[in-house]
Amino acid sequence: EQATAAQAERARRLAALRDLPAVTRDGRRIELAINIGRPEEIGAAEAYGPEGVGLFRTEFLFLDRSRPPGEEEQRQAYAAAVRALRGRRLVLRTLDVGADKRLPFIDWPEEMNPALGLRGARLGLARPDLLRTQLRAVLRAAAEGPISVMFPMVTTREEVRRLRQAVEEAAASLDREGIPRGRVEVGIMVETPAAALAARALAREVDFFSVGTNDLTQYTLAVDRTSQEVAALYDALHPAVLRLILEVGRAAEEAGIWAGVCGELGGEPLATPFLVGAGITELSMHPRALWEVKQVVRGIRYDEARRLAEELVALASGEEVRHRLRGFLAERGLALDA
Ligand code: PEP
Ligand code: MG
Repeated sequence: EQATAAQAERARRLAALRDLPAVTRDGRRIELAINIGRPEEIGAAEAYGPEGVGLFRTEFLFLDRSRPPGEEEQRQAYAAAVRALRGRRLVLRTLDVGADKRLPFIDWPEEMNPALGLRGARLGLARPDLLRTQLRAVLRAAAEGPISVMFPMVTTREEVRRLRQAVEEAAASLDREGIPRGRVEVGIMVETPAAALAARALAREVDFFSVGTNDLTQYTLAVDRTSQEVAALYDALHPAVLRLILEVGRAAEEAGIWAGVCGELGGEPLATPFLVGAGITELSMHPRALWEVKQVVRGIRYDEARRLAEELVALASGEEVRHRLRGFLAERGLALDA
């Protein structure tokens, strides 16, 4: 009975956070957003009070069909998400297939290592027809509300420039045809070590970064995220991964752009003090994680989290990182779900 009562009390405390801002004790504002795979998920998540969508995975429109969706079908799906958000930001990721996700209407090459092959934005650049249709649909949907477009799996400045140019060309083609469109912010996912290590240079090319910790962990640790054989080695809190995230946060701060996290680590309350301290200002996650993460944000100070972040990247293992984070939270009365 005592345990049940404590749980109910905890749920009430968390629910009371719904309409409060995610702001640290010393006034650093963090935006808490959700990850979605379909527009309908926005309505279902409203009970948790999200401030926007930090990752809209658009693959649902492309899977299980023999031909790619047309521009109008895509426009309608994206506009539905924009309308459901009523002015809040929608970060839309362009088609991210390849590796483990294969589409029947694409002529896939034979590759020994598909996770290192033609996937994400690389596919978009290799198939400009697909990219152009999606970008035109996004720009048209942006006439109804704010959209930030985000490209997955980027490693070079050249790719970023070509992708930005594709956005500009799509916009110019709509203008020529007199079709209404909006403006979009253009950003990249940082999910390769190359993008993280080159973040200072890439920050000059984009409006924002969003760290994809799922792939960033896979590529940094050389651990296939889908393999059971090496699952024990997969650890997003490995200091090597944290060091890359810190690099991204600091690069964004210097360049005056924003940096978010949309991989699983973004919804991990234990990681919140590190991410905030690393300079990340937007966290995107499963809706159910929002309140716990908000509770941590509201219970810490940014200046202390900054020092903590520098300390954590110098530790020797994910275990040490976890231990230190638990201690940091406990000292502030923020023991997580016991
Ligand atoms: C990621 O890699 O962290 C990410 C958010 O993208 P996905 O999980 O869809 O690869
Ligand atoms: Mg990814």
